Amino acid sequence: MITVRGFEGQRVAIFGLGRSGLPAARALKAGGAKPVLWDENEKSRAVAEAEGFELEDLTKADWSSFQALVLAPGVPLTHPEPHWAVVRAKAVGVPVIGDMELYARAVSALPAAQRPKSVAITGTNGKSTTTALIGWVLKQAGRDVRIGGNIGVGVLSLDDMHPGAVYVLEVSSYQLDLTRSFKPDVAVLLNVSPDHLDRHGSMEGYVAAKRHIFGVQDKGDTAVIGVDDAWCQKICTDLTAAKRQAVTPISSARAVSRGVYALQGVLYDATGDRTLEVADLTQARSLPGRHNAQNAAAAYAAVRALGLTVDEAAEGLLSFPGLAHRMEEVARIGRVRFINDSKATNADAARQALSSYPKVRWIAGGRAKEGGIESLSDLFPRVEKAYLIGEAAQCFADTLGDKAAWVLSRDIDTAVGQAYADAIMSGEETVVLLSPACASFDQFADFEQRGEAFRAAVLSLTGAKAKAKV
Ligand code: ADP
Repeated sequence: MITVRGFEGQRVAIFGLGRSGLPAARALKAGGAKPVLWDENEKSRAVAEAEGFELEDLTKADWSSFQALVLAPGVPLTHPEPHWAVVRAKAVGVPVIGDMELYARAVSALPAAQRPKSVAITGTNGKSTTTALIGWVLKQAGRDVRIGGNIGVGVLSLDDMHPGAVYVLEVSSYQLDLTRSFKPDVAVLLNVSPDHLDRHGSMEGYVAAKRHIFGVQDKGDTAVIGVDDAWCQKICTDLTAAKRQAVTPISSARAVSRGVYALQGVLYDATGDRTLEVADLTQARSLPGRHNAQNAAAAYAAVRALGLTVDEAAEGLLSFPGLAHRMEEVARIGRVRFINDSKATNADAARQALSSYPKVRWIAGGRAKEGGIESLSDLFPRVEKAYLIGEAAQCFADTLGDKAAWVLSRDIDTAVGQAYADAIMSGEETVVLLSPACASFDQFADFEQRGEAFRAAVLSLTGAKAKAKV
């Protein structure tokens, strides 16, 4: 656990006792603060009380007694409208912060020479993959790495700091909205496309939150920015002109004169004077597709900024075993490969997977998102057959119509069995892909459970051998 200093003897309100609330309370208490906790959910309060924390009904509290409000990232800060706890805090000038800000305070409380390094990763898509990839590459090069934040373990539950450690942190836009002094040594913004607009009010609000990741960086820090969308390109241009930190543009769509880019699966590092061929990503163990080229370019730029050599960086990228549920090859039986992309909960994410294979047997469905799979119609010719599951099955069948073969499989076990039987019948090399383009909640607790159900169904087929993942 990280010890958060700087609030010794002071009362700090914590609202929202989900994934980040209790770790924040522990971290603050360890640093000598007096956390005061509240949640509208009685069960959450009971858990906090059982751990010996002070609870106080924040609707009735004297807010001027608090030094800060630590807000759970799921609680609305501004949109659709500020939560009452935010309104109360702001009325008396109490700063509203989150767990990443507490981490930042813990770092800056240390003398400069003892501070660990921080790498922060944000973007609309690819955050978890890039976070895990950077962590992996650094580990392979022998660095002392902790990986967490929005992925896996919450930031304040990671091991406490010491010099030489590198914290690789996935950061969501909600978390960024709750930071003020968070100053990563390397900040990565992968891409921006419309998402979570209900919580940020507008595209401008969402982009402003993402941009925050570079907010207090200065000389000696590095900004890594994907320039394949107009929003990020603009941020890159602005930061380059401002010359506050080093800026590395990355692209997986075109060559850049200075920066890191991937073309036809080959990763290049361009300094302006020379262009170096870094690695052939098509030979990587687990980085298929153009979207992963973007993730790899970002990871390369980040680890180079932390002092890894080109060879160390390339070796790490090529040996990355991949992340569970993101285009994860779970098994191969003869000529049939089984890919688990359960994390693809919307059509945009499923597009990445579908476009990575020329022919697929596609398992899709679940609880549909707005628009369903209509936006993927240009990829239907790649679908040998769709095996449709969950609530969306009939609706997806209607969209596919006669543009691709389909069957209403209803559940994952049936879908896997049918896809495998069809693949064997055809005798051709083929990919069975679970990339649902839907939420999982109609049949599963979350996308992880859905991915595990797929893995179990595949591994129960005769001849299947599991593949190891991180
Ligand atoms: P996040 O953590 O941002 O949700 P993940 O790394 O978990 O992203 O990937 C989620 C899905 O998004 C993957 O299954 C993949 O299909 C797609 N994806 C991954 N990286 C990118 C990227 N750089 N651009 C667009 N889509 C991506």
